[in-house]
Amino acid sequence: MFGAMGCILLAAILGKFWLALLAVMFAMPAAWLFNLQCRKCSWPVYRAFGSAKQKYQRDQLLAPLNSKILWNLPAACTKCGTDFSGTDPVESF
Ligand SMILES: [Zn+2]
Repeated sequence: MFGAMGCILLAAILGKFWLALLAVMFAMPAAWLFNLQCRKCSWPVYRAFGSAKQKYQRDQLLAPLNSKILWNLPAACTKCGTDFSGTDPVESF
């Protein structure tokens, strides 16, 4: 009885571990993509400049949550206007 309960508990912990591992594996490339920065002004590529509230603009943690996140790579940097066309930003950064 206790052995079975222990097994179920272990399975639940292992299940959660694999679920956590899976979540990390999915989150890693996403975090890597969202951390891409403009090579000139180092503004995050996937964040529209000036879209965050002024008081959150400089906050590293709150700015991403309050600013508009772009799901497609913009043609140019939203801050300094550096053209991304013709170059692969994933390769250049
Ligand atoms: Zn820029």
